[in-house]
Amino acid sequence: MHRCRERAATFREMFHFRNPAQPYCVSIPAWATVASSVNTHIFRPCVLVFKIVPALLLFSFNHPARAQDASNQPTRWETRAQQKTELNQGITWLTHEPLDFLLRRGDHFDDEPDSYQKMCTPENLKRMADAGIRYGRIYFYKGFGKEYEKANMEQAKTTAAIMHGLGMKVDLYVGGTMFTETLYHELPEAKNWEQRDQHNQWVPYGSQTFRHYACPNEPAYRDYLKTILKYAVEEVHADQISFDNIMLQPEPESCRCPRCLAAFHDFLRQRYPTPESVRRRFGLPDVDWIVPTEWDSPTQPDGIGALNEPVLQEWVRFRCESLGHYANDLYDYVKSLNPNVSVLYNIKGVYSYNRYWANAVYHPLYANRIDVMSFDTGGYDARIDAHTGALVSQIRSYKVARRLKASCEAPLQDDLLCALDMAFDYETPVTGSPGVPFTTHVSTPMLEFYREYLDRYFRGTESVADVAVLHTWPSMAYSINDTYVPTTLMEQVLIQHKVPFDILFDEDMEQISRYQEIILPGQECVGDAQVQQLLKFVRAGGTLLLTGNTAQYNQWRERRRVNPLLPARTEGKGRIVYLPEIIRADSPAGKAAAVEENAEPGATAQRITRMSPAQWLLPKNHEAIDQAVVAGLPQGLSLEMDAPLTTVMDLLTRPASRETIVHLVNFDRHNPLAPVSVTVRKEFSGPVKSVSCLSPDRNQTLPLEFKEEADHVTFTIPATKIYAMAVIAQ
Ligand SMILES: [Zn+2]
Repeated sequence: MHRCRERAATFREMFHFRNPAQPYCVSIPAWATVASSVNTHIFRPCVLVFKIVPALLLFSFNHPARAQDASNQPTRWETRAQQKTELNQGITWLTHEPLDFLLRRGDHFDDEPDSYQKMCTPENLKRMADAGIRYGRIYFYKGFGKEYEKANMEQAKTTAAIMHGLGMKVDLYVGGTMFTETLYHELPEAKNWEQRDQHNQWVPYGSQTFRHYACPNEPAYRDYLKTILKYAVEEVHADQISFDNIMLQPEPESCRCPRCLAAFHDFLRQRYPTPESVRRRFGLPDVDWIVPTEWDSPTQPDGIGALNEPVLQEWVRFRCESLGHYANDLYDYVKSLNPNVSVLYNIKGVYSYNRYWANAVYHPLYANRIDVMSFDTGGYDARIDAHTGALVSQIRSYKVARRLKASCEAPLQDDLLCALDMAFDYETPVTGSPGVPFTTHVSTPMLEFYREYLDRYFRGTESVADVAVLHTWPSMAYSINDTYVPTTLMEQVLIQHKVPFDILFDEDMEQISRYQEIILPGQECVGDAQVQQLLKFVRAGGTLLLTGNTAQYNQWRERRRVNPLLPARTEGKGRIVYLPEIIRADSPAGKAAAVEENAEPGATAQRITRMSPAQWLLPKNHEAIDQAVVAGLPQGLSLEMDAPLTTVMDLLTRPASRETIVHLVNFDRHNPLAPVSVTVRKEFSGPVKSVSCLSPDRNQTLPLEFKEEADHVTFTIPATKIYAMAVIAQ
């Protein structure tokens, strides 16, 4: 697996570093016809583009197969990408990692010190600006200690001033671990900020045992970070601050320091304030008697399939809230200094395994207190999986990010990844954010298209969804793997059958009336209060679609004698529909053949039982599931199109311009998409003024003929390579 030399946007540290025989990652422009097996590993920006690009450019721009229209001329996107790529030559790209870190960790290039010398010079920064680069993430504070990194922080101030003078936005990187050798040297009391496991042992960052995690409940550590953030905002004038390593380690490496134990007891006392409620929940008279689970071996947690024990259930929530409050506190602090500074957290997206349990990341706790979230994962690159045929994407993560009002920082140099970002990303209005297409220095025709239309079509959008998939907290938190299978596969059906949907959590229950249908795929635990809310939704005319063992348990995973959501029935104006099973289509071999997959690169042991993305094959009964979903919509689908299952779509409105936008992404890299007939419900009042198609396949906006009928409009999107959007103006 060859790997890029890391120089820019994404966070990933090179744990599975390049093969020494392949010293340079070939960052092939995505338009140069790259096999998908190569594409899955070129998702990070490379510094060495200039070494190989000229030859490829000749190939890509003169190759007849790449001709964009009858005149055989390159598109203006191709021309611009070529020009920018030429301007990029010779630039030494900025990095978020300080040199000392690379040297301390090892596994780097022999010329790193030279690169660092060149990187921040006014000449190099000027060349970047001249090449159209509008943003850079620079190293600022990695965790070595404020004194130790003083020179870095001052360098950041100088660099930022030059970048601002050149019209570039500055992103400052803040690491999330404590480097014991230096920090404890200059500040011995920092040792008291460490996480401590049940054996009073510190918790390291993977195999880098010289990096320890700080306790999320330690206020002194936050206060220390705040002095650094104050410098970042007030002295360096950061546009964005990027916090890395926002996660906790899986059991048994979770903090049980005296602070955390006291905070846990306070947490329990708030949730169970009376002796009766404590006894009903735990069978004990007083929350102070409660001891968090103590493991008898490092591997004991791996044997658990479901969390039935109440203290362990509460512990999962407590860990998530501890981390969430830590991040919220830093967010509020940065915003109190300057609300225009964008805050990025590397919390990653939602995948088909239990990250509440594994890493204490529960996304709703970050709602409205995160401006950008980073994907920074391995194995989730958009593709039709070469081994299994599964359609793999981060679409779920994008949908959750939109609910949080966060942009997603994803690697965009691959055309398919870029197309997905255009289709699904929410662009934060926070002025410090550079806009996702500007977070990479790479230039591809698709990125040039994205950059040109960012403000016009990709900002200020809202999702249109007919159905919502509800992830209930106890179902997803107290099941290690089982509930993730039907949930993931139901969402896979909605994605590939192009049903407009959102993902909701318990925190969103008051919004369920916005949807025609709520789907609970194998949501085994549905709380008593939640049952009542769902029944109220049904009585008002909504459809509830349940599968498998939904609602067999209550909010504490206590098995019910009677399932209140069954049998399937009409109730009031609505109905409850029941599908007994979502039938998996993947074979056990799918797991074995899975490509490298690591949602927490370098930071976490990969022990947890999980469904891998290569296993996201459409279930055997996907057509019946799709039909049941659609039949349950009292007003029908907002959008219908006759595209194959390897095509995905997103449906958005842009209220400021009274436009409805359909994004189309073709996952089949080898075959362009044939013209697609689309019928869309009108989202605004009044007649349709125009329907137009935009795509990096052509230079100009293409007006489309359309037919208006009652509240629908029908048109045809012409043949598309990877990405197109149709804009309906009213
Ligand atoms: Zn602690």
